[in-house]
This record gives sequence, structure tokens and C-alpha cells, in this order.
Amino acid sequence: MNTSYSALDTFLTCPRKYKYSQIDRIKTPKSKEQFFGTLLHSTLKIVHTPGILSPTLEQALDFYSKNWNAEVFADETEERAAFAQGVAMLQDYYKKNDPAKTNIIDLESRFQVEIGENAEKHIVSGIIDRIDKTEDGYEIIDYKTTRKLPSQEKVDNDLQLSIYLAGFLKRYPKEKENLDKIKVSLYYLKHGVKLSSRRTLDQVKQSEELMLDLIDQISRSKFEPTISGLCDWCGYQNICPMWKHKFKEKGQKDIDTAKIIEEYISLKDEVKSKTDRIGELQEILSGYMDQENIDQVFSDAGRILRTLRKTYKYDKEKLRAILEPLDKWEEVLKVDGVSLRNILGVLPFETKNEVEKAKVLDKESKSYIVKKG
Ligand code: SF4
Repeated sequence: MNTSYSALDTFLTCPRKYKYSQIDRIKTPKSKEQFFGTLLHSTLKIVHTPGILSPTLEQALDFYSKNWNAEVFADETEERAAFAQGVAMLQDYYKKNDPAKTNIIDLESRFQVEIGENAEKHIVSGIIDRIDKTEDGYEIIDYKTTRKLPSQEKVDNDLQLSIYLAGFLKRYPKEKENLDKIKVSLYYLKHGVKLSSRRTLDQVKQSEELMLDLIDQISRSKFEPTISGLCDWCGYQNICPMWKHKFKEKGQKDIDTAKIIEEYISLKDEVKSKTDRIGELQEILSGYMDQENIDQVFSDAGRILRTLRKTYKYDKEKLRAILEPLDKWEEVLKVDGVSLRNILGVLPFETKNEVEKAKVLDKESKSYIVKKG
């Protein structure tokens, strides 16, 4: 397979989006976020392109303004805000970096890494925004225009940086000996913050294993859509089964979904307000029962009995001492899915992947989630 880091990343985000873009090759117009990111990247490329004199901030802003496209934004307010944000990002970049003092060896550096063996050989390509020569080694930098700043732990386990380093080492194989002198960094332009990390050779090899694993997952995938906050930026909403109904003309909708949704939401609201009221009545009754020292109240309509429900938890070590000799300990150990999900975010990518592979379908059911508006 001939693929790229960004294609593999798309598969991780949403397999269906991967199918639309990489297999069906369906083109979508550039979103405003893509346009904004691309323009910032091009401006920084101009800023750092070697010349007699490095461009001043004014020259960088001039390039940015001349290449601005107001058309991609929904309205003037949104467009003005985005433009001002780009200006602020460039001003901050110049405040913290002097382009004349950087020692850049390559910009938008294309790479290809060959992974796998024999019939299972694949090529993964990518583009490294910038490679700097530092005092004692190198720094690989990728610019980000996203709003969310990750934790250092996430940067230390970031797959993209490991793959970029693999690409760099392909070009400079001797540098494998000097990995402690090579920094890999993500520069978050909105925050003006650069988060850096280093990698060992083992981590680089692991990243290649992970890519092989992803390629294997792609070959077996049914490309199910994964709904997430990123759907807001997806250009395939009008064909995706998760969203396409939104784009259906009113007259084309076979059943009166508007009426059904309205009734469904109103019933859910009613259930909620009734549940809230039951809670209030329970509190009133509970106060009365305490005052009268009783646990049951009566009326012509019926009676309400108050009982005490106790839940217990066991001392883990004591229970283990009892059950282990009987070979029953393993049977009572249950994986707590919520706790597992909580720690997944901070696990190294390869561990997360291993955990994902250990997942088997237990049961399936459909749930109906209401999002108002
Ligand atoms: S809209 Fe969301 S679920 Fe559908 S393809 Fe795009 S990212 Fe995936």
C-alpha cells in the first residue's frame, strides 16, 4: 500500500471518512479551517525561505493579507475574527522567534518510509514542516493551528512525531546514533507554545509496527463512521449515514421525522420533569416519615413503603486470599470499562492500540441520544 501519515490519521479519526477520501477519492471543497491552516503554513514557509534578508513581520503580514480568501467564511464577523486571529498568531510568532537567527535545513520536507517485509511492504509518506539544525543536533517541527493544546504526556507518545522522525532518519541514517540530540516538536501557533520531546530507536521501530498494524486494520475494515466533534469539519456530511438526513429536502423525507422528533423530545422532557418531581415528593415524604418515625404511609390511592437499600464493596486483598486458593479469583475479576476509558487517553499509542485489539464485541444494542437544536 502507498499511503501517508495524514491518511492513516484520518482512518484513526473516522474509518468512513478514510474510505470517502482515500478509496472512493471523493473531493470536497476546502473548509475554512483547512484554508486558514494552509495559509498560515505558507506564510511561515515564506518567512523562513532562505534569502539575503529574512522577511519582516510587515512583509509576512502583507503575504498573509494578499492571499486571504474571504469567500470561504460564512459571514463577515466570522471572516474578520479569523483574519485577526491569523495576524495575532504571526505577531506572536515574530515576538518569540527571530527568523534571521534560525538555522533551517529544510522546509516542507517530503519523506517516504518503507515498512514491512516481502509481500507486505508498504510506503508511508509525509511532509515535515521544518527541520532545523540546532547547536548539537536537529529539531523536527510541525506547526499546528488547532485550538486544543495537548499534555506533554501526549506529545511524548505522539505517533505523528515518531513517524516524522522515521522519515528524517531515512534521509539521515547516520543520525540513528544521535537520537538524544534530535528534538521532535509541535508548535501550537494559537498559543505561541512549542511542545518538544525526544524518541528512542525502539520508539521509532514501534511506530513502524503501529503503521503496519493500522494498514492491516484498514485491509479488514468495514469503514464504520465514527461520530465525533470532528464531524463539524468533515466535508462528507452530506453523504455520511450519520448526517445525510440533515441535508434531505423536507418533501423528500419519507416519514414525518420533524413531528416524530418533536414528540420524542417533548416526551423525554416530560419524563425528566416527572422524575424530578418524584425526587421532590420522595424528599417531602422522607422528612414526614422521619418526623413521625414511620416507614410506610397510606392513602385511598395506595401506600408508599420506604426501605433501606444497602450496597457493599469487598476488601480486595481479603477476597483474593479466600478465592485464589479455590481457583475462583479470575472468575470474579471484571474489567471496569469506565476506568479503562479514563486511563486510555494517557497511555502510549502502542499500548492503546494493544488495548483496542483486546476488545471483543460483547453485546449490541441501539440507543437513541437526543441533541436539542
Ligand atoms: S461526518 Fe463524521 S462520521 Fe461521517 S464521515 Fe465525516 S467524520 Fe466520519
